[in-house]
Amino acid sequence: MDKPAPRSLRDLPSVELVLKTEAASALRMRFGRAALTDAVRAELDEARTALRAGATSSPVAEEIVARICVRLEAADRSSLRPVFNLTGTVLHTNLGRAVLAEAAAEAAAIAMRQAVALEFDLATGKRGERDDHVRELLRALTGAEDATVVNNNAAAVLLVLNSLAHGREAVVSRGELIEIGGAFRMPDILLRAGAKLVEVGTTNRTHPSDYRNALGPDTGLILKVHTSNYRIQGFTAGVDATRLTEIARAGNVPLVHDLGSGTLIDLSRYGLEKEPTARQALAAGADLVTFSGDKLLGGPQAGFIVGRRELIARVNRNPMKRALRVDKIRLAAIEATLKLYRDPDRLAERLPTLRILARTQDEILAQVRRLLPLVTAAFGRDFSVDICACESQIGSGALPLSNIRSSGFAIRSLCHGATLERLAARLRGLPTPIIGRIDDNALKLDLRCLEDEAGFQSSLAELNGAREGEPL
Ligand SMILES: *Cc1c(COP(=O)(O)O)cnc(C)c1O
Repeated sequence: MDKPAPRSLRDLPSVELVLKTEAASALRMRFGRAALTDAVRAELDEARTALRAGATSSPVAEEIVARICVRLEAADRSSLRPVFNLTGTVLHTNLGRAVLAEAAAEAAAIAMRQAVALEFDLATGKRGERDDHVRELLRALTGAEDATVVNNNAAAVLLVLNSLAHGREAVVSRGELIEIGGAFRMPDILLRAGAKLVEVGTTNRTHPSDYRNALGPDTGLILKVHTSNYRIQGFTAGVDATRLTEIARAGNVPLVHDLGSGTLIDLSRYGLEKEPTARQALAAGADLVTFSGDKLLGGPQAGFIVGRRELIARVNRNPMKRALRVDKIRLAAIEATLKLYRDPDRLAERLPTLRILARTQDEILAQVRRLLPLVTAAFGRDFSVDICACESQIGSGALPLSNIRSSGFAIRSLCHGATLERLAARLRGLPTPIIGRIDDNALKLDLRCLEDEAGFQSSLAELNGAREGEPL
């Protein structure tokens, strides 16, 4: 194997030589010496491999530095990349659910940069409570006696079950034993919470007597779960919250209502279907109600537990609470988000989730028309671009059967080699990736969630730039 190295291999600049170039010094300032040296070595290794595989000329130092720049910039980019969510699903779990209000982002940034009175009572100088920052707001917004907040609603459900039904029975209707994805299945959560699941009724029908017959000395609680992500239709019967309250009271056990998405306001005002509010669930008689922070509420990831004071106290005494609590950054964002609800008239303006959900089809269609020439030009001759009607979804399991009329683009392939999968991959490869949805032989871009129109335009321009020399 002692073949003399080909001339081109010997021409390859040394690590030192590359590092001495002016362009490399600029990169050292940006990315640091260690990262730069590693990148130079990696790039030279690659060039060597290419030459051994038959490449005929070796790159000069400047070319190598240019490649290193691309490499370092790519490595430096956050993998938590901002994207254009044009999937049509507003609260897309894989794309981070709710986009936060400006006020929430600002509050979070302040809490990040400074010491804050997180568990410190400024009036007395004594220890305060984390929940103090949101308790009054949640009480005012839901009518609850008391409230607490944890990492997410899954944590809220786990914590409540563990606090009230550990070593005891939790009575749940068979029709409500849901899986919400991400391995969150009610029966498994009950098991992990240390509660014994007592299923009552059948998949499609549960009657008051089913609940009554299941109650006994070992019952820890009755759990009602909002079947947020599916609906049983046809020959069905359930027991509504008011009726269930009577049964729970008679049996002297607490009634816990997991609302899932939950909301604090009547959504019909924004042209959406009604979803039970936390206030309604409490008014119907639930002793504790749990719901999410980053679904319809439009805040950061969080889980709220609201309801009777003595039950919240039991939840707070559970050592698990400490493991599930939220940090100052999120608490600041939650407080700021909840405060927006005190002014319902301006809520749709300030809370992105509602603002986006409230956009009318006409409004979106006007935006689609405005962008049509640009989009048509960007996708070139191999694809056709048509305006299409879309059905947006709220997502995250909220109102799964109610689609919201929207508008967007349907992009179809006009020739054999131009596949939609490749096109979708190219869009995902943009500096700010554009995420659509392939459906009915078309790549659909639903513009409901497109607020940054200028940013979208410059992203499309990148697509054109990237197209030179390589077909889409
Ligand atoms: C979404 C949901 C949960 C979990 O809430 P996260 O905030 O995602 O943890 C629990 N129960 C129901 C009914 C849900 O829809």
